[in-house]
Amino acid sequence: MTLSRSADDLGRRLMERLDEAAVYSLPGQGVTRLFAGEEHRRLLPLLSSWMRLAGLEPELDAVGNLVGRCPRALAGEPALILGSHQDSVIEGGKYDGMLGVAMPLLALEALREQGREPSCAVQVVAFGDEEGVRFPSTLVGSRALAGTLDPKVLEGEDKGGKTLREALAYLGADTSRLAEVRRDPERVLGYVEVHIEQGPVLENEGLALGVVTALTGIERHRVKVSGKAGHAGTTPMEGRRDALVGASAMVLEADSLLRRLDSLVGVIGQLTVRPGAVNVIPSEVEFTLELRSPDPERRLAGRRELLAGLSGIAKERRLEMTTCMDYEAEGVACAEWLIQALEQACKEEGQPSRRLFSGAGHDGLAMHALTDIGMLFLRCRDGLSHHPDEAITAEDAEAGTRVIMQLLISMTTACRKEIGEG
Ligand SMILES: [Zn+2]
Repeated sequence: MTLSRSADDLGRRLMERLDEAAVYSLPGQGVTRLFAGEEHRRLLPLLSSWMRLAGLEPELDAVGNLVGRCPRALAGEPALILGSHQDSVIEGGKYDGMLGVAMPLLALEALREQGREPSCAVQVVAFGDEEGVRFPSTLVGSRALAGTLDPKVLEGEDKGGKTLREALAYLGADTSRLAEVRRDPERVLGYVEVHIEQGPVLENEGLALGVVTALTGIERHRVKVSGKAGHAGTTPMEGRRDALVGASAMVLEADSLLRRLDSLVGVIGQLTVRPGAVNVIPSEVEFTLELRSPDPERRLAGRRELLAGLSGIAKERRLEMTTCMDYEAEGVACAEWLIQALEQACKEEGQPSRRLFSGAGHDGLAMHALTDIGMLFLRCRDGLSHHPDEAITAEDAEAGTRVIMQLLISMTTACRKEIGEG
């Protein structure tokens, strides 16, 4: 059953709200709204007003999340949490983060206008920090909800020497109540986030919406290739052990292997050449290799194949190669019951969708420690994000809002039990 069309222009209304929120930005191109900064502080009354229109009671928690609770959630019923982040990157777009705050609030408001109610208790959380731009920490808000936030991050400083604790006090948050932010998993049904795709998959397939299956795992390596320096004029070409020529062959090899491997993407994004002189054969090159996959086994298999390929090239060219992995974060899977609930809601609204994985991290990475997570992706123009030209259409905004309305009226604890543990 499709919801009645009385709530017209939801797309237009959502776009207007996102424009309104985008005003709370540092000067410059696009949107720059840093965690617990002046623009964040000035945005809060606007979000609170949207929450009240949605029938939620807003509250600023100890770490700068603005949390809206419906009366049933206030009474202690287990709630579905929807939300996303309020902060942006430097000169980012209007939609990364704010879409996932504004859309569920408008969906709740539209249901109210139609005299309908969500089938479960609901909270909408506008997380303070996801991007990790200002302070040396990230996912502060969602980690606090999940109970995995190390209180030491409050002492982390921004470039100007201000601690996160001081910035939060300026925002109006009472950091002495940090422990209260942690949620009881028994009182949470799940976490659903709407986000722009930040990639081109949906646009290429002509789809407005996609249902996320997993958030990517990430690993980063440092690869050092050593050869032999020598005078660039007097050393014959034959027999040179040029580390940069070897590293270049490795870059091409990694690219061609990554193109063949399924469910794995990667990049060599940084390269340092030593001694780095115009007339000396390079003796050493150090480069980074980052791999991302939602599937830990494929990531491991891909890593082995790639490193073996690179090592083969080193041998061929008589170069030394050492590698070290200096970062690894596991990906997390979305819950099948939430994937199916989102797909069902798309179907009810006559919106074709596809499953896809997220190559970027999101608040769900932290929320996964607390509860089941689900994500709905919305098509963005040219797959562009973290950029002032980030764009979505009003039609897609409307489609997404209607799907969230459907999800809200069809969500029940029973649905979790039936689909989830079936
Ligand atoms: Zn985001």
